[in-house]
Amino acid sequence: MNELIEKAAEAIRRADALLIGAGAGMGVDSGLPDFRGDQGFWRAYPPYAKLGLSFVEMANPEWFSQDPQLGWGFYGHRLGLYRNTRPHKGFHILKKWSERMRRGFFVFTSNVDGQFQRAGFPPDRVVEIHGAIDWLQCTAGCGIGIYECDPDNPQPVNVDEQTMRAVGQLPSCPRCGAIARPNILMFGDWDWDERRTGEQQQRLNRWFQEIRSANLVIVECGSGQAISTVRHFCEDAAGPDGTLIRINPREAEVPSGQIGIAAGALETLQAIDAILS
Ligand SMILES: [Zn+2]
Repeated sequence: MNELIEKAAEAIRRADALLIGAGAGMGVDSGLPDFRGDQGFWRAYPPYAKLGLSFVEMANPEWFSQDPQLGWGFYGHRLGLYRNTRPHKGFHILKKWSERMRRGFFVFTSNVDGQFQRAGFPPDRVVEIHGAIDWLQCTAGCGIGIYECDPDNPQPVNVDEQTMRAVGQLPSCPRCGAIARPNILMFGDWDWDERRTGEQQQRLNRWFQEIRSANLVIVECGSGQAISTVRHFCEDAAGPDGTLIRINPREAEVPSGQIGIAAGALETLQAIDAILS
């Protein structure tokens, strides 16, 4: 383990460009729930165990037409939770490393929780591949596009935690008055407006063009095989010349020559940072 930490620190010291990949495991050290498996989801949200509803069933756009109070109960609760959660120290360590990179950095995350921006990462350096909970779109598709959900309100939706139903005013479209929904890619979701994520990806692609000859290091945290977009992206980005540091307590396997560390994000980032500083 120590040898891997040393190797990781050396790769970061040598690099002049940093790509950060993040999945659900990154948020766990901030105290955010991990929805791994039905049991994990139901531990985080006991009312859904009683209703017999899984994460896959709740993360479904159908609720916003069939039962908006139930749909917004789930997303409204998470919106409040994410806005009121302080990102753990690992985010600040990554930010410090990012600022040292001569040729810049980018974040590529499947998380919708906005934690990188809340930790102070510049929004134009983040790709949220599944969208973000702080942004909304109209369910009627009236053409308003994607807009921010009540940015100064720490708890835009009130939720009865016994029933997990939203109470009172639900987020609605300021243009046509229809129910709004989070700009998040859900399961079986044909209506997700991908333009915001598309623009983020274009910025990332431009950066990749600029740094072709760079010494790229990739630090991937808490991205499992269940939703493997981030893992594949990070492996591809590493290619034959870059260094991938994969931090994952359960699924740390890496392509040959890369660095896989089987531990949590925060403790590993702190261990690497202790060597660097
Ligand atoms: Zn509308």
